Amino acid sequence: MSAAILDDLAPVEADDPGDVDGSEPEPILDLSQVRKTYSTGTIEVEALRGIDLVVPEGDYVAIMGPSGSGKSTLMHILGCLDIPTSGTYRLAGVDVGVMDEEELADVRNRRIGFVFQQFNLLATLTAQRNVELPLVYARVPRAERRRRATEALERVGLGDRLDHRPTELSGGQQQRVSVARALVTDPDLILADEPTGNLDTASTLDVLSLFAELHEQGRTVVLITHEREVANQAARTVLIRDGHLYHSHDEEVAATEALATLESGAEPDPASRIPLWEHGADEPAEDRL
Ligand code: ADP
Ligand code: MG
Repeated sequence: MSAAILDDLAPVEADDPGDVDGSEPEPILDLSQVRKTYSTGTIEVEALRGIDLVVPEGDYVAIMGPSGSGKSTLMHILGCLDIPTSGTYRLAGVDVGVMDEEELADVRNRRIGFVFQQFNLLATLTAQRNVELPLVYARVPRAERRRRATEALERVGLGDRLDHRPTELSGGQQQRVSVARALVTDPDLILADEPTGNLDTASTLDVLSLFAELHEQGRTVVLITHEREVANQAARTVLIRDGHLYHSHDEEVAATEALATLESGAEPDPASRIPLWEHGADEPAEDRL
């Protein structure tokens, strides 16, 4: 697919009052000390332990971590599908924590385009109807829905597959339909959770090149993955492990070494403590380490 096909995808520059006085524009995502604790019966699981993350407009960031590290929990919070136990999350400058269910649903629908591992396409609907769905929820009139869905599918190179149902498309094509569905509302943010997890190598490259094009055109993309090869396609990678975020590999290595030192009972090197705890408000108790 040529970049030209996607050229008109670039978001229109909004008049940003932040630019007038020379100050920085609001980041799309701004998380400060976000924690999430699940309580099931008597057991509490601290899935996120003080996440700080700023994603400016136009960034392409991968969040990479092993199974159980808190990726889906973070994804649910970023996508306004769940709210933090504590800490603040500002989406495009707006504090998500003070919104009610209806406002959250509205933000989800208008500001975020979701791409999931399982595609989440409705089997009985054609590609075009699947892409129209977010516009149905946004009460866009039918003729305009059709036009915008067709445009979005053309942008991902599926203009000749409008009337195909998901079973009549390859995995890679199905994921491109869901990218079109994510784009059709013109969201501030594309949020993808393991988008290549069910794809073969060729389709993986195909979908990743689509994200790269979206990024080149100024879209903000957050890609969640457990695979380094996939994360490497993003402009930058942050690592998540045991509910902590590490902003570079070096930081993660230092943190891991600090943990090992603590576990061995030796006095930790003060310098190596920094990456472990600067993201958390308080130091984890030794018995938790
Ligand atoms: P990942 O997506 O990286 O595999 P998750 O965010 O799904 O990680 O899980 C992080 C931790 O939180 C795990 O220990 C998991 O068992 C726990 N967890 C996730 N969801 C729930 C839940 N709804 N109730 C209780 N514990 C949960
Ligand atoms: Mg997960």
